[in-house]
Amino acid sequence: MAWWRRKKEPLERTSAEQKVSLPKGLWSKCDACGEITYTDELVANLRVCPVCAHHHPMPTRERIAAMVDPETWEELDLEIRSGDPLGFHDKAPYRDRVAKAIRTAGPGDAFASGVGEIDGVAASVGFFVFEFMGGSMGSVVGEKVTRVFERAIDRNVPAVIFSASGGARMQEGILSLMQMAKTVAARSRLRDAGLPYISVCLHPTTGGVAASFAMLGDIILAEPKALVGFAGPRVIQQTIGQELPTGFQRAEFLLEHGMVDRIVGRLELREHLGALLRMLTGAPARAASEVADEALPEAAQAPAQAPAETSAASPAEP
Ligand SMILES: [Zn+2]
Repeated sequence: MAWWRRKKEPLERTSAEQKVSLPKGLWSKCDACGEITYTDELVANLRVCPVCAHHHPMPTRERIAAMVDPETWEELDLEIRSGDPLGFHDKAPYRDRVAKAIRTAGPGDAFASGVGEIDGVAASVGFFVFEFMGGSMGSVVGEKVTRVFERAIDRNVPAVIFSASGGARMQEGILSLMQMAKTVAARSRLRDAGLPYISVCLHPTTGGVAASFAMLGDIILAEPKALVGFAGPRVIQQTIGQELPTGFQRAEFLLEHGMVDRIVGRLELREHLGALLRMLTGAPARAASEVADEALPEAAQAPAQAPAETSAASPAEP
């Protein structure tokens, strides 16, 4: 028996997890570097970590506001609804899953389509809504993607699609797989009409979306470190029984191997898209005063190259 005994109760131990716990919502901790930032500041910085530039997931509504010029966005096709052709039922009926997703993520299924201006250039634009059943592509998403391309043809404007998807929506079976062919056919009609299409691959762009129109942009951009590929790395590794190279399927790896044209950070993306769209369509460069108002030096330089690039990028050429 010990000759000395503590009379008071020992202090309650705090686990490492408790030590860093913060009031929910007010502060955000960076997944990459651990830096703690005031959430409002992080949101104002488009959810890009101010210390390490890690791109955090971004709600689609915030993304639309950041990418499309204020007051120009008009969302369309909100009336389209998912059917339940297979009467699909796993842990929950498909209809219930859709109803729940509508309550939490909004009415437009996993895709927001519409028209607006990107840095002053009118475009037919679409955004995957990853919050809605993992951005999965069923018949509604396929129809909306198709309409983005068709609307671009009707209005004689370029098309821009921001993809973030887990792939086809298995609850709609073959009908969701069919959307790959349907969207690619619409994309071909856009090409035949001589109009440009820019695909922006966000994290993650996988499955049937990566295997169809997301990889068919005239220009394919990706956000830093975005995972872009058909099957996930774990599935591939198990299938081929080999170690995969470091960074496999990440945007940087894909850039190195020619699958994407450029990696553009979220903070520069809108101006970058504007400059590319002006080059591809021959739209007039923005007035220097407009650009100066927004204090964006990159955007001010890019349009100066537009006339020279326009003929080379003429959509009439094959
Ligand atoms: Zn960070």
